Amino acid sequence: MSKDVIRVTMSSMPPFDEYCKEIRSIWDSHWLTNFGEKHQELERQLVKYLDIPNIHLFSNGHQALEIAIDALELTGEVITTPFTFASTTLAIMRKGLTPVFCDIDENDYTIDADKIESLITEKTSAIMPVHVYGNICNYKKIEQLASKYNLKVIYDGAHAFGEKVDGRSVASLGDITMFSFHATKVFNSIEGGCLAFKDSNLKDRIHALCQFGFSGEDDVSVLGTNSKMNEFQAAMGICNMRHINEYIDKRKACVGRYRERLDGIDGITLCKEKENTVYNYSYFPVVFDEKILGKNRDDIAKALESENIFARKYFYPITSDFTAIREKCSPADTPVAKRISENVLTLPLYAELSFEDIDRICDTILRCCKA
Ligand SMILES: *Cc1c(COP(=O)(O)O)cnc(C)c1O
Repeated sequence: MSKDVIRVTMSSMPPFDEYCKEIRSIWDSHWLTNFGEKHQELERQLVKYLDIPNIHLFSNGHQALEIAIDALELTGEVITTPFTFASTTLAIMRKGLTPVFCDIDENDYTIDADKIESLITEKTSAIMPVHVYGNICNYKKIEQLASKYNLKVIYDGAHAFGEKVDGRSVASLGDITMFSFHATKVFNSIEGGCLAFKDSNLKDRIHALCQFGFSGEDDVSVLGTNSKMNEFQAAMGICNMRHINEYIDKRKACVGRYRERLDGIDGITLCKEKENTVYNYSYFPVVFDEKILGKNRDDIAKALESENIFARKYFYPITSDFTAIREKCSPADTPVAKRISENVLTLPLYAELSFEDIDRICDTILRCCKA
């Protein structure tokens, strides 16, 4: 039996020569960062691909998220989900705001929009939901609450690059959507990220915030930071944009194979695909029911590891249980998030994953469940 390592993810990369060709002009111009030619080109391409009037690039997605909070001048409390990567909650807290944790929907693991209203107080300034695993939030309900209570909405769209719902780009939902272009994401610029937004009035402020608050040459108008994307990152982004549809098609085929092998098995829950949604197949989460299988998530992770297969307990724990967050926040009353977090594994998924590897992963899981 083959014991080749299967990691949970593998970054998508263009052919080496293609990247070399792309960065040639950076050598000629000596323009390495500060909104150069590559930066501008990638922004133009993303405006088109994400079908949104405004895109601003950043050195990474987390910085983009913090700047979205600054740009909208949020205060007080932000209603959010604890079932996410640490970044979402950290951005809120690092900006001096209080995260108010809302439970998640047990089918798609996004924020349970029906539980948001009871968490709104006089201090609430915004909702920060996450399109977790690329599952798109109940945006209609969120939109309705935001307009009823005059709240801002920032979507953490780190997992949702290029997705569509009801014929709309996911980038068009809420006031601002953040996308991450980290190496492990569907689309990468090595590190990187962007904010997508409809309101062009936000443009200058966001631009200033990402370069020390400079609005002209001689004045700092807001307390900015430095989170510019450099030309080498943008060049990687441009190359990966040429292949993005191919990356997503390959991931889609992998997910199809996983479903063939794991769908309909008692004790194993997969996310259902919704109609009117175009997915990017960023993650493949599987929830294991110990009562039915006699094996829990950790047993299965161990069985996979013994075969040199590395799945991830993603997202475990819920962010409200991290030491630094727990010490500063009141405990989250989010039983669904807790349960999913304790029973979920995201299985390896990347464009170059072979069906053979998927079969090896599924065989191992099924063998462990039967043992
Ligand atoms: C990756 C990720 C981020 C942070 O993005 P970086 O580009 O790594 O800074 C934020 N939120 C979620 C849900 C993520 O998965």
